[in-house]
Amino acid sequence: MNIVHGHIGWLEVICGPMFSGKSEELIRRMRRSLIARKRVQIFKPAIDNRYSNDEIVSHSDLRIRSQVVRSAEEILDLLEIRTEVVGIDEANFLGAELPEVANHLADMGKQVIIAGLDTDYLGRPFEPIPALLALAEEITKTLAICVQCGGPAKFTQRLVESSDLIVVGAAGLYEARCRRCFEAGSHRQQLLDFVKRPGKGP
Ligand SMILES: [Zn+2]
Repeated sequence: MNIVHGHIGWLEVICGPMFSGKSEELIRRMRRSLIARKRVQIFKPAIDNRYSNDEIVSHSDLRIRSQVVRSAEEILDLLEIRTEVVGIDEANFLGAELPEVANHLADMGKQVIIAGLDTDYLGRPFEPIPALLALAEEITKTLAICVQCGGPAKFTQRLVESSDLIVVGAAGLYEARCRRCFEAGSHRQQLLDFVKRPGKGP
């Protein structure tokens, strides 16, 4: 549901854990805007060059052209005055300035659609999404499927040992878990179990 009246600015946020389809949903909304012949620009942070430098690519390989930025402010520098819809993916990499920038864009009359993780690997609210949720007209929470039990999953389980807030990657490093199966801060390394298993090996 995207009810946008004329040139009234609007902020919508799509958030959830990894593997919950946030990028797909962002791409879907941007495509609808393109079909409606609106002028769109899509931005993504420079840190996320996993697959492609000038496209947003979802895990299911949907893709759409995007511009790479190193900060939230750079979005304002690259903004074309006639742009009507601004999409921003991987909002977690754009830091504490993003809410102010997003609010400014909406005040200018832009429809702003932002996708990002709402919690970190410890299950804590992950800025700047919480601030963006407070400012948004519309919020969509996406859920993944828990790989342990098949239930609805809202947490991102890290599978490798690191205390860095952000470890770039996807499959193999993280999996989606439900509230019951999520182990906050656990680095239980199913991936690395094979390294030392007593009594086995050549
Ligand atoms: Zn579960």
